[in-house]
Amino acid sequence: MKPDQILASLSQLDHQKRPVTRVAIVFFTLACLSLGGMQAWSVYRARAVQLKQTQIATANLTQTVAEHTANTLTQADSLLLEMVERVGSESDQLRLQRYMGERVARGAILSDLAVYDADGVRTLGASASLGAPPDAAAQLRIQKFDPVSRLHISAPVRRPGSDEWVLPLSRRLITRDGAFGGMVLAHLRIKVLQSIYNDLTFDNSGTLMLALNSGQLVLAKPDKGTRTGMDLRANTAFQLARKGETGSQFRSTGSLGHEVEHLYSYRGVKAYPLVVVMSMPSDAILSDWWDSAYLSTAGVSLLMLIQLWLGIRLYGQVALRDRLEKERRSLQKLLVKKSRSLRRQALKDALTGIANRRQFDTRLLREFNRAATDGRPLSLVILDVDYFKKYNDQHGHPAGDECLKSVAGCINNGRRRSQDLAARMGGEEFAILLPDTDLRGAIAVAESIRKTVAARTMDHISGKPHSVTVSCGVHSVVPTLNMAPSDLVDAADRALYLAKTSGRNRVRAEGSMPPGSSKRFSLVVNK
Ligand code: GH3
Ligand code: MG
Ligand code: MG
Repeated sequence: MKPDQILASLSQLDHQKRPVTRVAIVFFTLACLSLGGMQAWSVYRARAVQLKQTQIATANLTQTVAEHTANTLTQADSLLLEMVERVGSESDQLRLQRYMGERVARGAILSDLAVYDADGVRTLGASASLGAPPDAAAQLRIQKFDPVSRLHISAPVRRPGSDEWVLPLSRRLITRDGAFGGMVLAHLRIKVLQSIYNDLTFDNSGTLMLALNSGQLVLAKPDKGTRTGMDLRANTAFQLARKGETGSQFRSTGSLGHEVEHLYSYRGVKAYPLVVVMSMPSDAILSDWWDSAYLSTAGVSLLMLIQLWLGIRLYGQVALRDRLEKERRSLQKLLVKKSRSLRRQALKDALTGIANRRQFDTRLLREFNRAATDGRPLSLVILDVDYFKKYNDQHGHPAGDECLKSVAGCINNGRRRSQDLAARMGGEEFAILLPDTDLRGAIAVAESIRKTVAARTMDHISGKPHSVTVSCGVHSVVPTLNMAPSDLVDAADRALYLAKTSGRNRVRAEGSMPPGSSKRFSLVVNK
């Protein structure tokens, strides 16, 4: 590659934008953003999954509890129906009483089973020793005026003479003539229902409740005992459960005294006027999620910090590499410029500034070949300062140098075309290579230079003016295959010798005659 091309491509590189650092910044910013984004997304997803899973789990739990409660009630109701049947058909009251006692003693579900007549008098009872339950009169009234004959469940009461909570269940008795005949009353032990609740395991912060649709709490887990019988109509979870459709789930804020967000799930107990409601505070549901979210966010933050640190280091490296690259290019430019100027220097004569012998030789060979190819004439003038030794002796070497510079200037200015080459051959000898110039033209150039030099009065450093003359040998050829460039130089040298020997300050030519004649000739231009 040529020096100019190298310089051009280096300058182009300088003007090119260096986007590497920008790319590095964008890359690391995007990497950090995507890492943070992915973390946020996965934490958000994990929260949604946790809530969804809890919803499913609580829905399953309420369903199981509702089914178990319904089974227990169905079991108790079957006994009531059987009793209604037996009271109507059995005439042996004692036997019936025994049977009732056995049923209560055998199954752990009931704590009492009794028959009441239409006036509310307890006619038969499994546990006769106990007093009448406080709700019996109310139950009888409901059974009497209910248009439909069905199982009636009333609010939990304490079993007479004990602390145990029971759920009164009753069914209507009809006499043979179709009139109201009283009722069969049973007390379902809430303890029995409680056992399934106690077997369930779920987060302690959650609450599972079984309540009558009318609002009385039957039981709850965690079991706080005193809660049974309390009015739930003001309870948010109960209100929402009563408003919603069976099996729906919803979330709200504030229930059971908690001013926090809760997740609710509820289910009606089949055909019975009961509902199972479960509520869990979101904090408890999400506590594991919070733990893993904190941990993973801390990990990702650490990763981002490491990435940031690496990014800053990489940025520094890239910036340094860019700077070094820039410096390297400017040094390379300097080197190319230097080498170009050195190359130019190597082809120039140090004293006079015109071409030196080396450049002359190169150009001579090139022009000689070109002229041979084109069949065009090539001329050479060799010029030597007359009595220069004497000049040096008289005026000194520095003045001699000045004189040589002045002569070189005359020669260089005497060139007529750009392709002509003026060179210092050595000492006080110069040459002018004239491509595409015939002998006549070359003689004219030589003569013009000779006259210019002769006319020029040199300013001597001593202050005395003096003049210098030159002798010129000219030769011209149309090069052929059997010629060498040195032949041209030799011939011009010979012509110069003639000029010297014939008196100096003149132009002499030795060469072929113009085309048509091969006769050698010698031409003296002046004197
Ligand atoms: P002629 O007319 O026959 O050419 O005689 P001349 O004295 O010019 O020729 P000669 O070859 O005897 O002397 C040439 C002198 O040129 C000898 C040398 O001291 C001088 N010379 C050669 N190169 C330089 C130079 O670079 N600077 C100076 N000042 N003198 C130089
Ligand atoms: Mg000389
Ligand atoms: Mg000489």
